Amino acid sequence: MAKQVTNGDNNSAAKAPPPPSPLRFSKFFQPNMRILVTGGAGFIGSHLVDRLMENEKNEVIVADNYFTGSKDNSKKWIGHPRFELIRHDVTEPLLVEVDQIYHLACPASPIFYKYNPVKTIKTNVIGTLNMLGLAKRVGARILLTSTSEVYGDPLVHPQDESYWGNVNPIGVRSCYDEGKRVAETLMFDYHRQHGIEIRVARIFNTYGPRMNIDDGRVVSNFIAQAVRGEPLTVQAPGTQTRSFCYVSDMVDGLIRLMEGENTGPINLGNPGEFTMIELAETVKELINPNVEISKVENTPDDPRQRKPDITKAKKLLGWEPKIKLRDGLPLMEEDFRSRLGKPTN
Ligand code: NAD
Ligand code: UDP
Repeated sequence: MAKQVTNGDNNSAAKAPPPPSPLRFSKFFQPNMRILVTGGAGFIGSHLVDRLMENEKNEVIVADNYFTGSKDNSKKWIGHPRFELIRHDVTEPLLVEVDQIYHLACPASPIFYKYNPVKTIKTNVIGTLNMLGLAKRVGARILLTSTSEVYGDPLVHPQDESYWGNVNPIGVRSCYDEGKRVAETLMFDYHRQHGIEIRVARIFNTYGPRMNIDDGRVVSNFIAQAVRGEPLTVQAPGTQTRSFCYVSDMVDGLIRLMEGENTGPINLGNPGEFTMIELAETVKELINPNVEISKVENTPDDPRQRKPDITKAKKLLGWEPKIKLRDGLPLMEEDFRSRLGKPTN
């Protein structure tokens, strides 16, 4: 029986969790922890898999449809006896015996999630239902990677977890942000109604090696542009802010949340806040002082400011990011240069 968990506010009344599946108990003694990572071939997922694989007691199964991820991100583990890679779309049920589920599957780049919004919302809603159904069947603990987008264009700054958000329900970003909001609701309903052990992380903008080079997110865009010697495209007005967390810090936070005793939701992000103009200037200074910075048109519903309040993560998980933006950008540059075939001279 799992220990009593809280959401940090002491108001999380839930049924006792279901026992792990009889199938698992009927098996011979199994010292390993079997962990499913949906979306494990993507950017954050593949770094999470690397970290989980470092522990010899972990067996890791990745389920991914490769929409925005790639087998390349998992290639160092293919053939490893503790690793399995399954081509699977989470909008279809998946039957595997696991102890933990990190549920990341979902495109995170606005360009990709807006490309097929109906599929994005199905991934968030049906995909999360399927993973919760799996968690219920096998008695697994499940962690959802939700997003700071649930706060929409926030009227509270910085955002803490008690803020309910300011989200346009019918906009072009709604498939993602409303999709994640429903996914969070499903997590808490399964927790209250069926006793499922849940963990909900609200991730703020994360960057690092292995981001899709042309996926349209701001850090990957600016670094690819700087390496290629193209103008850095700051979308108007350029005063909008984001807070950027290096991926190794994010992975550390996710594992602490999974292993801890709090359901969340818990903000995970780096509170350092930058305007997009400041970000462009920093990339220019660190990576290519010769590039221009150009102002381009923006897309609808772009949040004007975003910065996490991470008091809860500090207190409940003992977590805070260690890597500053100026230290993280050069680590990403190396990876982009090698993938773009433009090594440092
Ligand atoms: P990513 O696009 O690199 O990874 C997502 C992975 O999910 C990809 O490998 C993709 O192929 C897979 N996927 C998408 N739809 C799927 C489906 N229907 N079935 C199976 N697999 C599917 O994105 P990421 O940056 O690694 O984000 C991972 C998670 O973190 C996402 O849930 C995202 O919403 C969340 N998140 C990320 C950020 C960020 O800044 N990177 C911020 C907030 C939240
Ligand atoms: N952005 C930009 N130039 C780009 C891509 C994005 O100025 O080439 C801006 C965008 O307008 C937004 C911020 O960067 O204000 C972050 O955008 P991203 O798509 O990375 O993430 P999200 O909007 O989901 O936080």
